[in-house]
This record gives sequence, structure tokens and C-alpha cells, in this order.
Amino acid sequence: MVIKDVTLETVCGVTSVLPENTHMEFAFAGKSNVGKSSLINGLMNRKALARTSAQPGKTQTINFYNINDALYFVDLPGYGYAKANEEEKAKWGRMIENYLHRSRQLRVVFLLVDIRHEPSGNDRLMYDWILKQGFEPVIIATKLDKIKRSQIPKNIKLIREGLKTVKNTVIIPYSAITKQGREEIYTLLDSYLEQ
Ligand code: GDP
Repeated sequence: MVIKDVTLETVCGVTSVLPENTHMEFAFAGKSNVGKSSLINGLMNRKALARTSAQPGKTQTINFYNINDALYFVDLPGYGYAKANEEEKAKWGRMIENYLHRSRQLRVVFLLVDIRHEPSGNDRLMYDWILKQGFEPVIIATKLDKIKRSQIPKNIKLIREGLKTVKNTVIIPYSAITKQGREEIYTLLDSYLEQ
């Protein structure tokens, strides 16, 4: 896959009507600060099109990026602000659940977890939601450059155990610094687009 054209086409707030896209959608979810903007920017070859670390209290939106007029990247709001109040958390849940429930074009949800840490309760919740709605979760273990190569298998195992992954769930380690893992993600996207 070669990404040439990228447009931020739709931004949805909690009350917005979701777009009825005709191209396949690939969504990205994860705790805030996990490296979601860095991954999306890395895949799109843009330095800072996807927002970087939203601040607590900042409007939570679902952003649709039109890629090559052939597919969409869907940037879901990050979760897990320590300081988020119950109302914010509920809003986040409604938005994501509504999107997973309504999208007709969603093919894969990339769930990002930091390769250094055990998955959180919200990560598990998100993983289970994805499965329950019938979508394929692909785990991206971010910040790969922050651990030693020898630690990778052990950390991947902890992520698998923490999320209680089903047998065929793929885990792709990724670094926004070295871009390791990017080709694997492109190959996976291509395999869907060719179907
Ligand atoms: P988001 O809140 O999930 O969108 O996270 P960001 O993409 O804004 O990243 C949060 C912080 O982690 C930023 O300071 C990034 O520079 C850093 N970061 C993200 N990905 C990586 C990575 O793969 N390696 C390293 N070393 N830092 C990263």
C-alpha cells in the first residue's frame, strides 16, 4: 500500500450523525497517550495531521480520514484519562459503542496497547466490545523502541494474557520512531482491500 492522498473528511461529535461511507473503514482505538496519533500519522506519512495527545476535557471526536479515496482510517477518541469524570467516560463509551454498532464498512479495529505495560481494564473492555460486535481486533503493541529486543516475547505474552486474546488475534509490535511494524500493517490493509 502506498498512501498518496489523505483528507480529514468528517469529524463527529457525540451528537453527530455518523457518515455512511461506501469505502472500507479501519478504526484505531486505545488509551490516550498510547501513541495512536503517532501511528496514524506514521501510516499516512504525515507529520501531524492526526491530532496529538488530546488534553483532558478537550472535545472527544471520531475523525474520518479519507485515504486515496479507497478506504478510511477512523480515529476513535482515546480513553482512560485518570482525571476524566463519570460523564466524560460515559460519553466516550456511548460514542465508541454507537460507532461499532452502526458502521457498515468497518473491517478491522486496531487496538493499541503500550508494549511496556499490562493491558488496563479499559483495554480489556475495548477488546471484548470489538469481539462482541463481530469485528476483528488487531492489537498494535506501541513504543517498541522503548524495550530491549530480548523483552519482546515476554511482553507480548503478558498482553495476550491480559486481554485474554482469542486464538487468531494478531499482535503487531510497532515503533513510531523506527516505523518497525508499518509494512505488516500495510500488508494487512491490502489483504482486506483485495477481498
Ligand atoms: P495518543 O494520545 O495515543 O494519540 O498518543 P501520541 O501519538 O500523541 O503519543 C503520546 C506520546 O508518546 C508522545 O510524546 C509521542 O511522541 C510518544 N510516542 C508515541 N509513539 C511512540 C513510539 O513508538 N516510540 C516512542 N519512543 N515514543 C512514542
